[in-house]
Amino acid sequence: MNQGNREAKRSQMVEHQIQSRGVQDRLVLDAMRKVPRHLFVPDERVDSAYADRPLPIGCGQTISQPYMVAVMTEALALEGHENVLEIGTGSGYQAAILAEIADHVVSLERQPDLAGAAAETLKDLGYVNVEILVGDGSKGYPERAPYDGIVVTAGAPDMPHVLIEQLADGGRLVIPVGNSFHQTLTRVTRRGDAREIEKLEGCVFVPLIGEYGWKESEVE
Ligand code: SAM
Repeated sequence: MNQGNREAKRSQMVEHQIQSRGVQDRLVLDAMRKVPRHLFVPDERVDSAYADRPLPIGCGQTISQPYMVAVMTEALALEGHENVLEIGTGSGYQAAILAEIADHVVSLERQPDLAGAAAETLKDLGYVNVEILVGDGSKGYPERAPYDGIVVTAGAPDMPHVLIEQLADGGRLVIPVGNSFHQTLTRVTRRGDAREIEKLEGCVFVPLIGEYGWKESEVE
């Protein structure tokens, strides 16, 4: 498939899978039209890169469905000046979408092999405003806090309060919360000492494994 065909596939993905389901944020739609998703999937999955579903990326993990990446990014309500934390780098695709919009992105991945591959892909594509780090993201990353946005791309059993504490005033945490089979995409906005909680939609993610997520023995 040549470059023009891939651009056409991305335009179709945005129109038929994302805009048609109600995502309107222009910055999100532009980023999803631009980032070459096929470079974030294993070679044998390239032909399915623009399909309406998650895909395996190795280590038992997945690159999220394009629509879900768009919904989560829109829920962060980014304007361009933000410091953002992503938990669950996976392929690095969501990190690239965030890096297109925000000022700085820190992304944490617990599996070193995935983190290494994602960092290489992002470097090859010329992203200089993303840091990929290996570690337990359920604890957040206080070294770069406060964050204007935190997005968790794995399912948590509860809302990790340690993440809310790392939000700036007015900052948004977007996180799937539920059991290991089904979660509710939830947005928490920090307003001083208060928190505004909104339930957005149902979703299914691989588990967030760590101190403030699932124990490995509970899900494997
Ligand atoms: N955002 C990714 C992308 O664009 O490809 C998809 C992420 S995949 C659905 C979830 C990722 O979260 C997996 O790579 C998994 O290893 C990672 N993960 C699970 N628990 C984690 C934790 N406590 N800290 C960091 N990463 C974690």
